[in-house]
Amino acid sequence: MVKPSMNNPKDPAEVRTDAEWQATLAPDTYSVMRKHGTERAGTSPLNNEHRPGLYACAACGLALFESNTKFDSGSGWPSFFAPLAKAVATSTDHKLGMARTEVHCARCGGHLGHVFPDGPRPTGERYCMNGVALKFEPK
Ligand SMILES: [Zn+2]
Repeated sequence: MVKPSMNNPKDPAEVRTDAEWQATLAPDTYSVMRKHGTERAGTSPLNNEHRPGLYACAACGLALFESNTKFDSGSGWPSFFAPLAKAVATSTDHKLGMARTEVHCARCGGHLGHVFPDGPRPTGERYCMNGVALKFEPK
């Protein structure tokens, strides 16, 4: 079960009602970020994004990942081996009958994806992100 509190923002400035989020976000972004959806693998244009830049939260704009931590995981979702400091928060999700570590934006609480312990060096972590939850800002 996903605890409803997980979607609560850490920053009071980002407190919005569900209706406000729905009005603000594109439908696919809303479904992933506020309803814990998952975009279809291989659909994100960010899978093939290789320019230097920053990946920010699609909901609140907080910078989450730097392009030099992105790698091709072959999963069909944009993948990173490390987030920026204090950019994300994690919690445990048991939805598919196994414990997975869910990743949220540290500022607005929006769902981003999951982190798995099978990533490359130096961290060994794979942040498997929904492209619709990210906004790429080229440098
Ligand atoms: Zn955010």
